[in-house]
Amino acid sequence: MANQQFGAGRPSSPLEQIVKTKTKDGSNIRQDIPQTGWTFIECVDHITADHRCDACGYPKVRFVHKVASPNSQLTLLVGFICGGQLTGQSDTARIQEYELRRMARRRARFLTRGWSAAQKDDGLYFAWRTEDAATFWLKEQPSGTWSLHRSVRGIRDELLSTGHINRDAAAGVLFQLLFDHTGH
Ligand SMILES: [Zn+2]
Repeated sequence: MANQQFGAGRPSSPLEQIVKTKTKDGSNIRQDIPQTGWTFIECVDHITADHRCDACGYPKVRFVHKVASPNSQLTLLVGFICGGQLTGQSDTARIQEYELRRMARRRARFLTRGWSAAQKDDGLYFAWRTEDAATFWLKEQPSGTWSLHRSVRGIRDELLSTGHINRDAAAGVLFQLLFDHTGH
């Protein structure tokens, strides 16, 4: 029983044409869906605030809350206010969103701090940092992409991943490997 993605894509059912109800939280939840009884599934950080809330149409959601309706087999990707209204589980969602915000701040610090950087004779840049007795390397490739490497004493330059569009993208993969266990 695959859940059907509801409200994704426009304009099959333009939100503007749907009669809306003003909730006590100030959100405008469309009336063609169950107004309560949804279950909070997870919160996902979109990094940029570019998601349009499936329930009210608000276009600048960054932390997307996935909720499911057991009765109608639907899932919605909504913002925090609509998620809390639909599920009544705003505390659970708040805790998970808080954890994602904390991890995003830590990630931003990781990308900018703690790196040493240099340029090789051939003009390509590289950067490195030490974590847990291993040294991690970000290396610019002749193609312009960046790769991530690890070296431990006795093991020289193990390639971890490659093909990243820039240095931050490669560093972000390392952050994910080392610290981010929020699942995204
Ligand atoms: Zn909403």
